[in-house]
Amino acid sequence: MEIKILTNVSYDVAVVGGGTAGVFAAVSAAAAGARTILIEKNGVLGGTSTVGGINYPGLFFAWGKQIIAGHCWNAIKRMESLGFCRIPEIAYERREHWLEQIRYNTFAYCAVLDELCAEHGVEVCFHSMLTAAEEQEDGVTLLVAQKDGVKQVEARIVIDATGDANLVQMLGYPCMESAQLQPSTLSVSLGGYDADAVDVEALTAELASGLEAGVLPAWTVPATVARGVFKKELRFHVPTPKGSDTSDQKSLLEISARRDAFSIICFLRTCKGLSSLFASEFSNECGVRETKRVLGEYVITAEDYISGRHFDDAVCYAFYPIDLHIPPYDVKQQYFSPEHCATVPYRALIPKGASRILVAGRILSSDTDANSALRVQAPCMAMGQAAGCAAAIAARQGVCVSDVEYQALCRELTRQGAIVPL
Ligand SMILES: Cc1cc2nc3c(=O)[nH]c(=O)nc-3n(C[C@H](O)[C@H](O)[C@H](O)COP(=O)(O)OP(=O)(O)OC[C@H]3O[C@@H](n4cnc5c(N)ncnc54)[C@H](O)[C@@H]3O)c2cc1C
Repeated sequence: MEIKILTNVSYDVAVVGGGTAGVFAAVSAAAAGARTILIEKNGVLGGTSTVGGINYPGLFFAWGKQIIAGHCWNAIKRMESLGFCRIPEIAYERREHWLEQIRYNTFAYCAVLDELCAEHGVEVCFHSMLTAAEEQEDGVTLLVAQKDGVKQVEARIVIDATGDANLVQMLGYPCMESAQLQPSTLSVSLGGYDADAVDVEALTAELASGLEAGVLPAWTVPATVARGVFKKELRFHVPTPKGSDTSDQKSLLEISARRDAFSIICFLRTCKGLSSLFASEFSNECGVRETKRVLGEYVITAEDYISGRHFDDAVCYAFYPIDLHIPPYDVKQQYFSPEHCATVPYRALIPKGASRILVAGRILSSDTDANSALRVQAPCMAMGQAAGCAAAIAARQGVCVSDVEYQALCRELTRQGAIVPL
């Protein structure tokens, strides 16, 4: 069968994946003067922060001081000014990290991201999935499956912001995968009952008997589910099988997460006071914490991260604690010492040996523990901004991504309002 190419278009920069990091990569590349296309498989931008139901990005501040700004912060300020998010009080002292995350309305965020892309002239292609990629001496050719056929995209520089390193793998660059992947989580909001009347202890006991009787998924932790019912928000953890960067594995993951969540919800309706309980909202995709990461020109280690190592080619800060989720519901956490804060080297955004490709988001080159902190949204956005600016400079100057002059990159990031570690 012959594949018919619908159109053949050329850009300076192509970003694959319009999620947490990719949107800001595209906006930054366009703001730096690059003709930019953003290729997204869904019908909304935001990725895990919208369709994955994680509408609480962190962390933009460290020790009371702002460390991440630029287009991503402008988006948050725009939502705040319209009343769609509340920026929490920021403290100097170390606190529970979730206290300084920003909660926003997901619909408003999707709309603001559309606005930002339009204002900066990013060409957004929704319902478009990367299908094949080939590198040439002076650029990269992408084949993108669209509803009406295949679009061929030529770009001088490409950015992989798929969260799964799909583009990196198609171009044949090496990736890493942790020995055990962190669990994935399906988020469901509940309604139809009086949460104040929920007796958490009694419900825990009812769930425990359901678990013992084998009518609940083996992964169910009764006390966690009971607390979730009280808060009207459930987070169903499911194992993330190896290879969950592929459509086939992702299909199994989505189906098993929904099946398990549905069986728990059905069971809850048999419990005291919950006969009318229903799922009022749910994330359209199961939130995935990790799949593959790129093996880059530098691999950030947990020691680099938590010691607050300052890299000579640092492009942004990161301040989330190490936050490794161990199945089913354990978490290994490690916090910074006072005044410490991590930095992200530009080299961790360059796949080893690559000249035309950068990465942004949770797939950056880092070991398992460092990645458990760097994968959160504020650093993903900041990395996106750095990758976008670097890609625009490389495309304009006709140089390899590793030859982008660091000072020029810092100047462009600063011009766009981003904070560069000094
Ligand atoms: C359960 C859970 C809880 C979390 N809690 C927090 C928290 O409290 N605070 C916090 O800040 N972060 C949290 N995170 C982490 C954070 O949300 C993610 O790690 C981060 O959003 C990942 O950003 P990304 O840009 O790398 O990927 P994504 O946001 O997932 O973006 C990837 C984008 O690429 C698109 N895409 C993928 N493949 C293709 C393809 N082949 N072609 C075209 N498009 C493609 C996707 O549709 C998506 O839009 C949590 C994550 C999970 C799963």
